[in-house]
Amino acid sequence: MDLLSIDSLSDGQIEEILDGGLRCFDRNRSQMRADSLDGRIVFNLFYENSTRTAMSFATAAHRLGASALSLSVEHSSIKKGETLEDTAATLNAMRPDALVIRHRENGAPAQVAAIVEAPVINAGDGTNEHPTQALLDAATIRQRLGRLEGLKIAICGDIRHSRVARSNAKLLPRLGADVRLAGPRELLPNDIPELSIDEAIEGADIVMMLRVQRERLEEDLGDVPGEYLSRYGLTAARFARAAPGALVMHPGPMNREVEIASSVADDPERSLIRLQVEMGVAVRMACLELLVGERAA
Ligand code: ASP
Repeated sequence: MDLLSIDSLSDGQIEEILDGGLRCFDRNRSQMRADSLDGRIVFNLFYENSTRTAMSFATAAHRLGASALSLSVEHSSIKKGETLEDTAATLNAMRPDALVIRHRENGAPAQVAAIVEAPVINAGDGTNEHPTQALLDAATIRQRLGRLEGLKIAICGDIRHSRVARSNAKLLPRLGADVRLAGPRELLPNDIPELSIDEAIEGADIVMMLRVQRERLEEDLGDVPGEYLSRYGLTAARFARAAPGALVMHPGPMNREVEIASSVADDPERSLIRLQVEMGVAVRMACLELLVGERAA
């Protein structure tokens, strides 16, 4: 079994990952090493930059007794022009137990999964999906609020380029949440109805802010410093429109004082941003156990 998109998971598998994530959370916090994947090898293949996802997959593998090996794309034969297919076939010949891939092209993980026999996990492909981020977001909300059912969740910012938004827009409604997507017109996909950030945030239980992905913009937004924050960013004043005690999330990396004010991001009571990172390790442990464990069984 591969984990390429939220749609590829059954409701039962989603529950298994979320429950497993909550269990692994304590195991990771107490820095315990389990042996459920003892002797297994997880390949990490990141063609795009990563801090949280790459390190949390590696940490998750180690916590389960597996070894995480990262290919340094900069120093690999990819730089000599090797194709994605040839790289996949080469890595497959080394017999890894799982392969985690991030790539700038939509669909690249599926191409690799067609070649690699071990489970392939999509760690973010272009503007398409980032399923383990959505799973860790859902587990974070469950851990803090005990449920997703009936929650109003505003996902705001650069929806057009966000694989995080795309995976969450599929997952969170399946778990009973009411999801609203909002952003500047030029950062919304054409098929999403226009909704202002203020309208989306009104009465929301959770506000999830997204990074402006300037590396994927064809034309710069042309905004002057401070303009994005005041028009579309999460300032304390804008956050006050949300439900009392509402919580804020961000997948990281943050553009501080662009899509989110530091005073909101660093609020010790209402910001879940560090908890999301911690849950990232736990949920990726659960994913590896499900995929690699299932294959071994
Ligand atoms: N880290 C997330 C991703 O890789 C979000 C972002 O980069 O803005 O999609």
